[in-house]
Amino acid sequence: KSKEISGNSYHFFRAGMDVRTIESIKLENDLYKALEQEELVIYYQPQIDYSEKRIVGVEALLRWNHPTRGMIAPDQFIPIAEETALIIPIGEWVLKEACLQLKSWLEQGYALSSMSVNLSARQFEQNNLFALVQNALSEAGLLPDSLQLELTENLIIKNQELTLKTMRELKDLGVKIAIDDFGTGYSSLGYLKSLPIDTLKIDKSFLQEIKSEKDNAAITHTIILLARNLNLSVVAEGVETKEHVQFLSERGCRLMQGYYFSTPMTAEEFAFLMDRNILEVQ
Ligand code: C2E
Ligand code: MG
Ligand code: MG
Ligand code: MG
Repeated sequence: KSKEISGNSYHFFRAGMDVRTIESIKLENDLYKALEQEELVIYYQPQIDYSEKRIVGVEALLRWNHPTRGMIAPDQFIPIAEETALIIPIGEWVLKEACLQLKSWLEQGYALSSMSVNLSARQFEQNNLFALVQNALSEAGLLPDSLQLELTENLIIKNQELTLKTMRELKDLGVKIAIDDFGTGYSSLGYLKSLPIDTLKIDKSFLQEIKSEKDNAAITHTIILLARNLNLSVVAEGVETKEHVQFLSERGCRLMQGYYFSTPMTAEEFAFLMDRNILEVQ
């Protein structure tokens, strides 16, 4: 209709265009260059075994140090990377870099049992994920069980056959597999039993409203029991307060990750933390 009036639909269309769309197109253009210009950075967040009061593992969390916009969080550019398939080279880089970093920390004598790396569905749609993982491990000289891959429930459901096949191959190699953001997806409990996984990571949303929402406390507790009964490890994400820590340890969840202990930090800061053992764990 606007075409008939103005004789030019172009202006009409432009005016209606979402600002975020334009923003994300700009980001997309920049993202093509980000990898080769070495703007991507991995931050590391410690995983704590509270019963031993020490850091036992670490999760690699990607950041983009944009030349004009500063540090960009993954939620703002991973979706773009997924749409454009840039997640393939970026994901490969993260895997390699995180493995090399863990190797270097192990050589420095830090007693870390694993490095966790997040994967996107897109990476499972490639046929060569298994080879990429194997390659990252052997290049770094790491044993497979020092790598834990984090996938979401929805990723597993999305592309069942190929994903399951690759998961089994990775598991047979000795790589550990965790379900991230557990409790927010759509997988059934029966299905869970048949998956080649080692760990459930309780989504941070449950813990965060544990006080105001009784249901969230119940869900968190249920996931802890579920993991125990299925013989899986369980990690709580988003541990922010002393109350969270208490709630979890009273219910037998020893592995914790969250701002209460430490935010994600640069590799240098992480090494500093390990050196001084200055983690705030009372
Ligand atoms: P995730 O894997 O579930 O990671 C946990 C997120 O919670 C991280 O956000 C972390 O910084 C944040 N977090 C940690 N402790 C706390 C806490 O106590 N409170 C709160 N509110 N948040 C906490 P981040 O680093 O922004 O990453 C967001 C998501 O981006 C990740 O969620 C993951 O799904 C994705 N991501 C990060 N790095 C990669 C990557 O290399 N590849 C892929 N495919 N996805 C990645
Ligand atoms: Mg994760
Ligand atoms: Mg998560
Ligand atoms: Mg996630």
